[in-house]
Amino acid sequence: MASRPSDRPIIELSNVSKTFGDGQRTVVAIENVNLDIQPGEFVTLIGPSGCGKSTLFNIVAGLLDAEGSIRFGGKPHNGCDLLGKVAFMPQKDLLLPWRRVIDNAILPLQVEGMSRRQARAMADELFGEFGLAGFENHYPHQLSGGMRQRVALMRTFLFKRDLMLLDEPFGALDALTRMMMQRWLLDIWQRHNRTILFITHDVDEAIFLGDRVVVMTARPGSIKINRKIDLGRPRGAEITTSREFLEIKKELLAAVEEESMKSFRIAQQVP
Ligand code: ADP
Ligand code: MG
Repeated sequence: MASRPSDRPIIELSNVSKTFGDGQRTVVAIENVNLDIQPGEFVTLIGPSGCGKSTLFNIVAGLLDAEGSIRFGGKPHNGCDLLGKVAFMPQKDLLLPWRRVIDNAILPLQVEGMSRRQARAMADELFGEFGLAGFENHYPHQLSGGMRQRVALMRTFLFKRDLMLLDEPFGALDALTRMMMQRWLLDIWQRHNRTILFITHDVDEAIFLGDRVVVMTARPGSIKINRKIDLGRPRGAEITTSREFLEIKKELLAAVEEESMKSFRIAQQVP
C-alpha cells in the first residue's frame, strides 16, 4: 500500500537537536533533524551505530526533551504531550520474565487504567494474527527470539496510537526468521492501517519495508537522504533481486557506508 495522501503529516520535526552532557564533556547526538511522516506511511530510518537513531526515537516518544520544533497532527507539542501519541517498542524487547505472554502484551493498557479482563479480551483477538495462538499463558523464556519479538510488537500494536516507533525490532533475529517477520509485519501494517517509523541497520530491510528510507549521517545525526521507494505493494521476497531494488540498494549502501566510515573515525578520536 502506498502512503495515503493527507492534509497534514502525523509528525513534523523541524531542526530538532539534542546534546547530552554536563557542560564539561558534551556529546551532540543529533543536530537539525528535519522529518515529516504522513498518516499510513511506513518510514524506515537507517544510519551508522551511534548516529543518534535511538535518541531521535526517544525524543519522538516524549521520553527525552530536545531543541527545535515537534508538531503532532499540525499542533506544536512539548515533550510530555507526546507520550500519549506514540506507541514505542524499544531496542530491547523488555518483556517482564515473571509475567505470562498475555500479561506482558496488555501491560501498557493496564498502566493506562484498563481492567485486566477488558485488556485480555482485546489481546485475545490478536494471538492468532501474531502467530502466538496457544502461547498466551507461556512465560517469555519459553518462547523463541522471533516469538518474543512478536509479543513485544503485539504489545505495541495493542497500545493504539497515531504513530508506532520500532527500534531495530528484528536486529537480533537470524536471517530466515527476520525475512519471515518482515513479510508478516508488512501484512499486519497494511491490515491495521498503521503509521510506522522503523529503525534498522540493514539496508535491504529498510528498502523492503519502507515507503521511504531515511538515511542519517554520522554523529551528530542529521538527515542525509530521504528516498521514496516506489516498489509497489504487496512486496514478496522476489522483489529484493529486482533491478529497481538493486539500484536503490547501491545508492543507499554508498551513503550508509560513507557515514559509517565517518562514524568509525569519530569513534577512534574519542578517548
Ligand atoms: P544509535 O541508536 O544510532 O546507535 P544513540 O541514539 O543510542 O545511537 O546514541 C547517539 C549518541 O548519543 C552516542 O554517542 C551515545 O553515546 C550518546 N548518548 C545516547 N544516550 C545518551 C545518554 N542518555 N547520555 C549521554 N549520551 C548518550
Ligand atoms: Mg540504537
